[in-house]
Amino acid sequence: MKIVVAGAGYAGAVAANRLARKISGAEIAVVNPSSEFVERVRLHELIAGSGIATRPLREVLDDRIELRIAAIEKVGDGALTLLDGKSLEYDKLVYAVGSSNRAPEGTYAVGGLDTARAAHAKLADLAPAATVTVVGGGLTGLEAASEVATERSDLTVRIVSDEFGASLSSGARTRALEVLRGLGVDIVTGTWSPDDSADLTLWAVAGQADTLAARSGLETDSAGRVAVDSCLRSTSNPNVYAIGDSASVPGSRLSCQAALPQGAAAADNLVRELTGKAAKPFSMSFVGQNVSLGRSNAVIQSAHRNDVPTRIWFGGRPGAFFKEQVCRGALWSARTGNALWVRGPR
Ligand SMILES: Cc1cc2nc3c(=O)[nH]c(=O)nc-3n(C[C@H](O)[C@H](O)[C@H](O)COP(=O)(O)OP(=O)(O)OC[C@H]3O[C@@H](n4cnc5c(N)ncnc54)[C@H](O)[C@@H]3O)c2cc1C
Repeated sequence: MKIVVAGAGYAGAVAANRLARKISGAEIAVVNPSSEFVERVRLHELIAGSGIATRPLREVLDDRIELRIAAIEKVGDGALTLLDGKSLEYDKLVYAVGSSNRAPEGTYAVGGLDTARAAHAKLADLAPAATVTVVGGGLTGLEAASEVATERSDLTVRIVSDEFGASLSSGARTRALEVLRGLGVDIVTGTWSPDDSADLTLWAVAGQADTLAARSGLETDSAGRVAVDSCLRSTSNPNVYAIGDSASVPGSRLSCQAALPQGAAAADNLVRELTGKAAKPFSMSFVGQNVSLGRSNAVIQSAHRNDVPTRIWFGGRPGAFFKEQVCRGALWSARTGNALWVRGPR
């Protein structure tokens, strides 16, 4: 029995490590284009120079897991075609390739490792009073703008978007914008234009799914994410589980908060399947959102079980401490294959 995990981000690492722990007598391999594990939730820190976001992938994966450094070009029935021209056979596949980081020419995607590194280098070269534009007023945009403004108070930082912190309650949103203004960030409501004359433009608009699933003939949703049944199995190939940003899980959203439990749940269902037991439907509730605003500030928003924000939130240094623990917890999950989550309403 050969189980292959495609992609070693949060979802893939949890799944692979959990499988290694729970299954004996099966070969488990992970295929990932890079030998580094990327803590995507820290990429804005990498850009601003306030933190690191990578560590050797080999150290994150259980020793029993074979690691193959390659990008997958196509998912076939029972075999993957790799970009290096080789192929890799599988009996069961866990598809976890995340979301892609396409950004307009001349801008740098916050969500990609290479682009974040390039943005960091460019930022380091900027002279005082140079301008940085962050495009996107979602949580990643708020995090990127505040992190850069904190670390480089000599620069002019602006954030451009039609709306800001739309997923937060009005109290939390107001606080987040107050913090940004306090850091000197210009908040510009409107649509970004490529004619913007910034010295550095960071693209913090939500990632799209990669075309890999669709071009491989797996059934996808309109956004290109793999369509799955309630047990996280592909609706078009029963030997494929799909999890994280690359899976279309009803009620979910692109997040580490969902990717980790989905990785654990898919691994558990695979174990059940291999031991002749019935797979269990995946069930989780979101519990809130955590937005870092520099290293010593944040907004922590609680949510109802359907992901709608409650009026409860907190911020300041306690918020920053909480967010740091969440990031550490995500890495711990990836490393150990453990995941903690609240089940969805029955
Ligand atoms: C700055 C920032 C802050 C964030 N903060 C939060 C937060 O506070 N809370 C939260 O819940 N979420 C947050 N997110 C979102 C979160 O990081 C993602 O939703 C999460 O990483 C998804 O996990 P994943 O495993 O599905 O994908 P990823 O972590 O993106 O991992 C996908 C893996 O697949 C690999 N891969 C890609 N293509 C291929 C291929 N063709 N073949 C093989 N492997 C491939 C990639 O290299 C990568 O290793 C944040 C994102 C960003 C950018």
